[in-house]
Amino acid sequence: MPFPIPPFRLSAFPPYTLPPFRPSAFNSVMTAPLKEKDAMRCRSCLNEERASEGYPCNDCGTFICLICTNRGITLCKTCAEKAKTK
Ligand SMILES: [Zn+2]
Ligand SMILES: [Zn+2]
Repeated sequence: MPFPIPPFRLSAFPPYTLPPFRPSAFNSVMTAPLKEKDAMRCRSCLNEERASEGYPCNDCGTFICLICTNRGITLCKTCAEKAKTK
C-alpha cells in the first residue's frame, strides 16, 4: 500500500540558509583592550569596589559603592558631613 501524500511537501519550505560565518570579522571587534581594573575607592566606606557597580554621590558625583548604596547612603562622607552641619 503506498504512503499517503502529506498535505505539504518539504520543497514548499525555503532552503535553510545560514548567514555567512566570518570569525575573523567578529574577532576584530573584540580586540579593543579592556581595562584590567575598574575598582574605585568608595568615598563613604573607603573600600575599593567595582566602579561599574557603584553610584555617584548625589551632591558631588564622586563614587559610592554598591554596598553603601544598598545601606541607603547616597552621599559621600564629605557631603554627608556638609549635610549634617547645614
Ligand atoms: Zn562604600
Ligand atoms: Zn559627595
